[in-house]
Amino acid sequence: ASATDENDVVVIGGGPGGYVAAIKAAQLGLKTTCIEKRGTLGGTCLNVGCIPSKVHYAHLELFKISGFLSLKGASKMFELQPFIHNIATASCRAASMLWCYLSSLPSALVMGRNELLQSESAPLETLSHGRDLGLWGWGWRNGFFREWTYWSLTEEVVFPFSQALLHSSHMYHEATHSFPSHGVKFSQVEVDLAAMMAQKDKAVSNLTRGIEGLFKKNKVNYVKGFGKFVSPSEVSVDTIEGGNTVVKGKNIIIATGSDVKSLPGVTIDEKKIVSSTGALSLSEIPKKLVVIGAGYIGLEMGSVWGRLGSEVTVVEFAPDIVPSMDSEVRKLFQRTLEKQKMKFMLKTKVVGVDTSGEGVKLTIEPAAGGEQSTLEADVVLVSAGRTPYTAGLGLENIGVKMDKVGRVIVDERFTTSVPGVYGIGDVIPGPMLAHKAEEDGVACVEFIAGKHGHVDYDKVPGVVYTHPEVASVGKTEDQVKASGVEYRVGKFPFMANSRAKAIDDAEGVVKILAEKETDKILGVHIMAPNAGELIHEAVIALQYGASSEDIARTCHAHPTMSEAVKEAAMATYDKPIHI
Ligand code: FAD
Repeated sequence: ASATDENDVVVIGGGPGGYVAAIKAAQLGLKTTCIEKRGTLGGTCLNVGCIPSKVHYAHLELFKISGFLSLKGASKMFELQPFIHNIATASCRAASMLWCYLSSLPSALVMGRNELLQSESAPLETLSHGRDLGLWGWGWRNGFFREWTYWSLTEEVVFPFSQALLHSSHMYHEATHSFPSHGVKFSQVEVDLAAMMAQKDKAVSNLTRGIEGLFKKNKVNYVKGFGKFVSPSEVSVDTIEGGNTVVKGKNIIIATGSDVKSLPGVTIDEKKIVSSTGALSLSEIPKKLVVIGAGYIGLEMGSVWGRLGSEVTVVEFAPDIVPSMDSEVRKLFQRTLEKQKMKFMLKTKVVGVDTSGEGVKLTIEPAAGGEQSTLEADVVLVSAGRTPYTAGLGLENIGVKMDKVGRVIVDERFTTSVPGVYGIGDVIPGPMLAHKAEEDGVACVEFIAGKHGHVDYDKVPGVVYTHPEVASVGKTEDQVKASGVEYRVGKFPFMANSRAKAIDDAEGVVKILAEKETDKILGVHIMAPNAGELIHEAVIALQYGASSEDIARTCHAHPTMSEAVKEAAMATYDKPIHI
């Protein structure tokens, strides 16, 4: 059957909402066509959003590893001895260190070097897994000899050297300050921006082609072109190759996503004044980058360029960064970013932009009005939010109702004001997140197929992928207070978590809010290097209506960052052990 025969489901937009809806619909036995204008699937998320922004980050990590790979030959490898010395000093007795140097180190070096060479293509998770085994082996605990010897006898000991390097590679952006004191010396580490961009493009194109493969596997018809409603059951498509085709469907899902929100008086040229899309493709590292907007996208992109050497200033109209964040965690987070040299100008607005010179001159003034000043930048990133995208879709042709900010209004079954027409993802109300769009997509087609769909919007996790990451689910303390429910707070700092200390990446906290009377968990907020992974334990707990005691009495493996979640849960109704 072709796309122009009548479909059970037509999806306009191939982003995380649209492509997931299309695959799920086909899996449910519905004849499905997906229309996408970009020519590649995956939407904002895969092409110019979540994935490329993280690829930059991940690539930076790999780049840092390859920086170490340039240390060829045993004699150079031995320059890293003081690094191990440094770790050892932190946690072992002097005699243990000596032993480490004299007996165990050479073999660790050999194994570490092999692992290091393999690590170029190894997934980062594998590397970090071994890192902890290694550091544990190096003697976080007092029984240093016993544990190190034990691990030396096992296969896992092949990891430690490369894992320690991976950890230290995390500190690349601080290299000139931190590495010498860790005893790691190098003659030259360079950023090859073109190679970094090429790596990003390769990752994106592999992933988008992967979705095309999934479409084929699941027999989803894919029409490349711009779709426009001509009736509630027909979409006219101007195809990318040229020409026009009409796609018919009993059910049509609007999954057209969102676009960058512009600021009045600030014209985005994607060169000097860029959106997040332009910020993912800069050809040079700007010396000075000004980010307008302290939401998660602005902070993530600011972090990427900050790590690569830009001086980053974030200008924000509101009094706080990331308004949706728990205020206590937010303060901690801001302090951490400031330590990383990110500057903040809060309660400040941009009132003028001058691009006539070489760089950009911004005129700013206090949000409440007052004296103006200027701020110079090589590049300005406008990151003031995103807006639903329905341009040219012809919603007016069929009478789909929208709210004041242009979002498609839907009911709890994702149906718009027009029967048979649905909306999902960024184009409807709710958090503008890829995983929320995916959940919408699955639930929407389940309803269409006569099944029960369900999305619990109170339990959608949010993650800011800076370093450390900040992740949360459920209510903030301010929201709980406002609800009038009596509550308890349990907190546990990563400074008291053995794994975080062992890898010397212990900035952060777990904060759990639970109802006083029932101990039911209301919200969890985590700042940690891997908070985006840690949060899912809390998401499941909230989903199942768990109490903080349920988490605290669940055995957590040692040594892991997850133990901090357990201890914060203990602190909610009792006392934690390690603090
Ligand atoms: P989109 O992904 O926007 O997809 C909509 C698609 O519809 C687009 O491909 C568009 O070309 C197509 N389209 C539009 N109109 C038509 C038409 N008329 N005909 C045919 N096709 C059309 N979210 C996260 O969860 N985690 C993150 O880490 C994260 N990071 C981000 C980083 C950045 C820099 C940005 C910009 C966003 C990020 N997001 C992240 C948000 C995430 O990208 C979106 O929430 C998500 O992509 C929304 O999915 P969607 O399917 O609703 O819409």
